[in-house]
Amino acid sequence: MNQAHTFDADVAIIGYGPSGLAAALCLGHYGIKTVAFERDKDIYPRARAVTVNDWTMRCFQSLGLDEELAETMDPTVALRWVTYSGQQIMRMDFPPSRLGRHPTSYAIYQPSMEKVLRAANERHSDCVDVRFGVEVIDLQQDENGVTVSAKNLATGDIKTTRARYVLVCDGGASATRERLGIKLIGETREVKWVVIDARVKRWWPERHILTFWSDSKRPVVDIALAQGNHRWEFPLEPHESEADFSTHEQLWTLLNSLGVTSDDVEIHQHAFYRHHVRHAERWREGRAFLLGDSGHLMPPWAGAGMQSGIRDAFNITWKLREVLKGRLPASLLNTYEAERAPNVAFYTGVALQLGRLIQQQLSDEELAAMAPKPGEPPPEPPLLWNPWYEAGWFTGSVAPDSAVGKMVPQPRVGDAHGRLCWLDDQLGSGFTLLGDGVDPRSLLSVEDADAWSGLGARYLCVLSPDQRGKGVDDIVDLDGALLIWMRRFGVKVIALRPDRFVAATDVGGLSVPDAVGESPNVHITQSVKTTV
Ligand SMILES: Cc1cc2nc3c(=O)[nH]c(=O)nc-3n(C[C@H](O)[C@H](O)[C@H](O)COP(=O)(O)OP(=O)(O)OC[C@H]3O[C@@H](n4cnc5c(N)ncnc54)[C@H](O)[C@@H]3O)c2cc1C
Repeated sequence: MNQAHTFDADVAIIGYGPSGLAAALCLGHYGIKTVAFERDKDIYPRARAVTVNDWTMRCFQSLGLDEELAETMDPTVALRWVTYSGQQIMRMDFPPSRLGRHPTSYAIYQPSMEKVLRAANERHSDCVDVRFGVEVIDLQQDENGVTVSAKNLATGDIKTTRARYVLVCDGGASATRERLGIKLIGETREVKWVVIDARVKRWWPERHILTFWSDSKRPVVDIALAQGNHRWEFPLEPHESEADFSTHEQLWTLLNSLGVTSDDVEIHQHAFYRHHVRHAERWREGRAFLLGDSGHLMPPWAGAGMQSGIRDAFNITWKLREVLKGRLPASLLNTYEAERAPNVAFYTGVALQLGRLIQQQLSDEELAAMAPKPGEPPPEPPLLWNPWYEAGWFTGSVAPDSAVGKMVPQPRVGDAHGRLCWLDDQLGSGFTLLGDGVDPRSLLSVEDADAWSGLGARYLCVLSPDQRGKGVDDIVDLDGALLIWMRRFGVKVIALRPDRFVAATDVGGLSVPDAVGESPNVHITQSVKTTV
């Protein structure tokens, strides 16, 4: 057979950090033959990301991994911005989540989280082949597929692997992105930060409140990580260098300035890094897609860097599944960047804004805009806004007053068999149409019903707890959250994608979306929007 049509795998993944690992987990869950290449033998030992939120946990819930992961995490209670003189500039207490069974935010310890995820992926060894200690050294593509050349770093052997698509997850310094001729646009900030990770020896007041010591000269991030770890991040001043903080004795001068002593913690490790505000000029080249840090880098203030890579993985993989199974056209893959790039731009904007708050760079007008108006509840911080996409695989208008493009809330539900569970546990990993008190099929044309059924869609009638069930396809919205949400948008039927975003409603039309869009050219530093 012609080599161009012979494949070792459907999907190749370059890099097995959080983004590549999340992609491999999804593809394994879908039963798609995958090969992942990772240069390092072990998990990167330094904790980098410090939080995950309810959106990310909902992603892992769809793989049945959220409970296992939650055991390695601690719920985050609140964030506060304080000055060294003790003035509290702002405080944000995390409200209960609207997205499911987990708290709105968790503190994590990244190496532990990756360990759980890697172990989980071993369950997919029948279809996901992970090759450690192997560096990808070349990538070629043609109209049918990609050829990945990888070198075994122990033996020096070079092997080629042929796949239909490749997910580029090799981090911020991605050599693959360069090989694809994709530029990384943006800037790297001058200031260098020293990140100190420590093991806690005893409790101190309000250790569990994530604190930003706000100051124009020495703003400090002070975060309780999970599993008895704690993190501080200090910016170096212009006259300081890495050499000034190379020993524990020198690092202690920084911690002591916050009143933290060796009775409180033991320094575990430290590292220096700069903040990047960068994104790839495009996220796709032929059959190659950039995910995670290879496609975008943001400052850590919104805690959204790693999470954005994980969400990239959850976005592209169900689309690859549909295309590989021949159920949706290859143009669906264009919607990956159309959906994810504006979302990453939004969180980058939030991170930049929070960074300015911490460094006391916000004007009085900007601070006033964030403060509660007299007699009104405080404005909801953008960090807490429910997930939504601005453009992509949707039918009808994606506007603030439309349910289309938004992630559906996740209430507790009861089913016709008397089982009480979370909504997503009823949805599985496919498409579902939900009707408010009606069988969704009753509002579909014959063509639309055929098209959704062709995608394997399920049809569920959502009842309120005071209604009597009509059949096996009923679910009862025990919290009322789902029906209230649908009625707020005036919709009777919503069509949900595998990632829990609303693809279509009876108001904007219930046809299966077209997928033709070109990749957008989104400027990543766009300012934070004020409306959803
Ligand atoms: C100090 C700090 C704090 C942060 N805090 C947060 C936070 O609170 N929340 C958050 O969400 N994010 C945070 N981040 C960002 C987060 O750590 C990254 O966004 C995340 O690790 C990116 O994951 P990735 O898989 O895309 O890339 P990486 O983690 O960089 O993984 C890339 C992988 O590819 C492998 N690789 C590279 N080249 C090759 C090759 N040629 N062949 C094979 N393998 C290759 C590498 O060995 C690596 O394992 C923080 C980052 C830093 C530095």
